[in-house]
Amino acid sequence: MRKPDVIVIGAGIVGAACAHALANAGQSVLVLDARLGGATNAGMGHLVVMDDNPAELAISQASLTQWHAWAPRMAAEAPSTAFTHCGTLWVAADAQEMQEAEHKRARLHAHGIACELLSAPQLAALEPVLRPGLHGALRVGGDSMVYAPNAAEWLLGHASTPIQVENLRVSRIEGRRLHCQDGSVREGGAVLLAAGIHATQFCPELPIRPKKGHLAITDRGGAVVRHQLVELGYVKNAHQTEGTSVAFNLQPRPTGQWLLGSSRQFDTLDPAVDNAVLAKMLRRAIEYVPSLAERNAIRTWTGFRAATPDGLPIIGRHPEHEHLWLAVGHEGLGVTTAPATASLIASSMLGTAAPMDPTPYAPTRFVQEHAA
Ligand SMILES: Cc1cc2nc3c(=O)[nH]c(=O)nc-3n(C[C@H](O)[C@H](O)[C@H](O)COP(=O)(O)OP(=O)(O)OC[C@H]3O[C@@H](n4cnc5c(N)ncnc54)[C@H](O)[C@@H]3O)c2cc1C
Repeated sequence: MRKPDVIVIGAGIVGAACAHALANAGQSVLVLDARLGGATNAGMGHLVVMDDNPAELAISQASLTQWHAWAPRMAAEAPSTAFTHCGTLWVAADAQEMQEAEHKRARLHAHGIACELLSAPQLAALEPVLRPGLHGALRVGGDSMVYAPNAAEWLLGHASTPIQVENLRVSRIEGRRLHCQDGSVREGGAVLLAAGIHATQFCPELPIRPKKGHLAITDRGGAVVRHQLVELGYVKNAHQTEGTSVAFNLQPRPTGQWLLGSSRQFDTLDPAVDNAVLAKMLRRAIEYVPSLAERNAIRTWTGFRAATPDGLPIIGRHPEHEHLWLAVGHEGLGVTTAPATASLIASSMLGTAAPMDPTPYAPTRFVQEHAA
């Protein structure tokens, strides 16, 4: 077999999007995945413009544009990707959160992102399942959702140059050679590490910490929810760097079920559902949607986000290893930001114009470049 131009370690949404972009640019790509069940299989698949800082806004906005461009093809070629234009309602529980909604509206508007404030009566009319007494919401109509595991499959199976995928666990990277657990070796022109929280096995110098999250899915019910519903306090919780926190986050699945998040917990790699955290998360959700108490949670599970100290992903060439590129550390936004990550990786590997300023995501934030 001819040596592939690029070997990607990891077939989660980030590795799959990068492989797709590289193959579309004419590269021969081999993807190796150990089927460890990463964040892509665990998460919510909310495609959401986040605007906590300009770099987060830039990468999520560019990615949403790409998701929308893919949507018609995904719908035609793989309906199980379940891409849905649901929009997000950022729900304000009090006057202070309503003020935050207004600030968010102004920031998004300044970047050409369509959104509007809803008064309390407008919110109640749009989503009657929400409890009375909320102050209003910010509606971001372009946000969407996707079933991420199937989207990753679609990306791997629908590039213009076929992508080869092997079920193999890489145990060691030695330059351009990858030693696999079964004793075999693969060699490529370059290596892209997209292994989520497992990246530190190969690069312990990367400051990636696992952030555990719980999810629950309900049975089907009569009440209809049209948007992904998120409390405005979510942003505060999402960026907390210590301790345990929960926030109300409800995604209406096309099946009529409700997918519920979210919790954040540091310093554990125990995948077991923590009943105390789960109960807190569900109580929080019931505060916003009282009728949720009448539904059954039919499955609960956890996943691990790969968190970096500044909350931004690490994208680009490894400063110490000539043939190694990194696409890791996407925390709670990696499904959303996979497409722009892939464009940044492809431009960096192929030496073409970057789709946006790559500096905020550069690995040199955390790893010093080798002195010449
Ligand atoms: C609870 C929760 C909710 C979330 N909700 C959202 C959301 O609503 N919207 C959003 O945008 N993001 C969300 N995220 C974040 C998102 O899921 C992740 O950022 C994203 O899936 C990361 O993708 P990845 O490809 O980098 O990593 P992963 O999906 O973890 O994939 C890594 C892959 O690498 C493989 N691998 C690891 N080690 C090896 C090895 N040695 N050899 C070969 N293969 C290997 C694994 O098998 C795995 O398939 C959520 C995450 C969690 C945990």
